[in-house]
Amino acid sequence: MIKKWRAQNLRILKVINLIMCFGFIFFFQRMTFAAGPHSHGSAKLSIVMEKNKGTIEFSVDSGAIYGFEHMALKPADQKRRDDGVNRLRTNISKIIDFDPSLKCILTESKIDAFVSENDHKSKSVNAKRQATHGELKAEYNFVCEKSPQGSKLNLAFGKIFPSIHDLDVQIIGEERQSKQEVEGKEGKVQL
Ligand SMILES: [Zn+2]
Repeated sequence: MIKKWRAQNLRILKVINLIMCFGFIFFFQRMTFAAGPHSHGSAKLSIVMEKNKGTIEFSVDSGAIYGFEHMALKPADQKRRDDGVNRLRTNISKIIDFDPSLKCILTESKIDAFVSENDHKSKSVNAKRQATHGELKAEYNFVCEKSPQGSKLNLAFGKIFPSIHDLDVQIIGEERQSKQEVEGKEGKVQL
């Protein structure tokens, strides 16, 4: 009698275990979906302006800048990463090109060549190594002699980095806010 009861209990436990396992897998999948892998080749730009000054934030999958999305551990990968960052640095005045009559000066405030999607969960090196979707983030400041608000800004990310096929631009000025898109190699947005 006791044996039979145990066997039945064991079977119930097994079923509960199985349900929990599936539940976890399902939950985990939903979590990774919610975290959202970025869309490859689709970059984001955010421009905030106040009078004649402003800030620009740029982010894209690191594959579009240096060809891969994992943490660069091998010297060859580190070289590819650094070459990609240098290409961004040396071409930035062609990539983010204000109307010359405004006399704007753009300065880099920060480039983070590898931001992993696991960053918000864990900052451990292990988590970064395991990341499958690395991003590059860059921040810039600009100051112009004349206010750039209302002017046209030429953006040519796709010209220097051909994997970037689309750029979503968010613009926040003192009088208007807008979302604009640049498709292909280059295009203008209205500030
Ligand atoms: Zn990715």
